[in-house]
Amino acid sequence: MRALWQRGRPRAPEIQSRTCSSTSWPEVPSSALESTSSVSTVSPTVALPPGSASSARWRSSSDTRSPAAGKADSSGCVAYGSCWSSLIVRPYADAVPLRSARRGAVGRPGHNGRVTHWVLHVDMDQFLVAVELLRRPELVGLPVVVGGRGDPTERAVVSTASYEARAHGVRSGLALKLAKRRCPEAVFLPVDFPVYEAASARVMATLRATPGAVVEVLGWDEAFVGIEADDPVAAARSIQAAVLAATGLHCSVGIGDTLVRAKIATDFGKPQGTFVLTRDTWMEVMGERPTTALWGVGTRIGARLEAIGIRTVADLAAAEADALVAAFGPATGAHLGRLGRGGGRSRPDDTPWVARAHGRETTYQSDLRTPDEVRAALAELAARVIDDVRKEERMVQRVHLKVRFAPFFTFTKVRKLKEPTWDVEVITQTAHDLYLALDDQRPVRLLGVRGEMVEPEGGY
Ligand SMILES: [Mg+2]
Repeated sequence: MRALWQRGRPRAPEIQSRTCSSTSWPEVPSSALESTSSVSTVSPTVALPPGSASSARWRSSSDTRSPAAGKADSSGCVAYGSCWSSLIVRPYADAVPLRSARRGAVGRPGHNGRVTHWVLHVDMDQFLVAVELLRRPELVGLPVVVGGRGDPTERAVVSTASYEARAHGVRSGLALKLAKRRCPEAVFLPVDFPVYEAASARVMATLRATPGAVVEVLGWDEAFVGIEADDPVAAARSIQAAVLAATGLHCSVGIGDTLVRAKIATDFGKPQGTFVLTRDTWMEVMGERPTTALWGVGTRIGARLEAIGIRTVADLAAAEADALVAAFGPATGAHLGRLGRGGGRSRPDDTPWVARAHGRETTYQSDLRTPDEVRAALAELAARVIDDVRKEERMVQRVHLKVRFAPFFTFTKVRKLKEPTWDVEVITQTAHDLYLALDDQRPVRLLGVRGEMVEPEGGY
């Protein structure tokens, strides 16, 4: 219990803001001033945690139209509301055999009556800010905001805010102008991707150097680490020390007997702490929290659960499987039930990522006002997407469009192409058709185009 509560009363996990927003790859600006690229799997409203059978089925079938993902409109488009995930998630098509083969081996008493296999979720604390502070030590202790070109008069969003800035209500995804208003004394810094990528690589190399560790990278500042350990808290502490020694950066570590529990535990340990969440403590810690405290459950799914009388995690855990399946379909329904119990995959998987899609988006300094302006902008984005996709040697089979109308109304739509293509014009035209189908004349603040590729040979 001491380890469990070692940082005092846990705060509510901030899962939702991570999985269902434009910054769902935590602390990565998706709306920075410059166009940003994202390599991503499709992860709409419900970002299915890795390893569930449902996520494996969903991803491997490349069917983005999960019942949880959005509603098909009359044009056959699927609207995902404001969710546009740039989360990098590795493929999970192999999760089912892996899971069933090893079921019961993890997080349960072994031959000597002790749990020996653990999942650690390692998450860097205020990653971009922390990296910046290494080269600007004079800013330590000040409210620091990393975003866009570091100019709060420009259109861009907060990529990461320091804890000092967060105390003023500045959060990832917030417009820089609003951040400036909430915290006028904050220091604004530009996003510097190469530096963060290098830091991320050092972090991951350190994790992989842990003896016996199986590392599954979840984003550039977080990873699951599977380890055998009698004392997982000691193991977590030693990983924190190793990462600090190698990079000068602090991380928090969630410890669990499943990936879901480890992931959720991390937020209770932040910053610089550890937190243990297991089958035995799950209900005590999570039971009375709203379902939106779960990894991947955002306000939309939360509202749909509430509509069938499920408000808390305990409600969800106890829900009849049939009721969930009726409301969400077999895959997502089963997944949500499992999520309520903190279940799912218990072994990180280190097979390399295979990209599902490439996306590009741009926030415009002045709004686009005519369909021609929008079309020209889409053509530019489509060309960049095709450049990225060609490197994968796989063609695009679905086109996703993201539009943010002024002042800040975001919509995404997706359409399957008649046949896979590398043709920029086809991508542009499809994205433009999706835009026109929105039938919305408001000025456009941001556009994003994402090309979802055909499966690689042999599937994901
Ligand atoms: Mg982090």
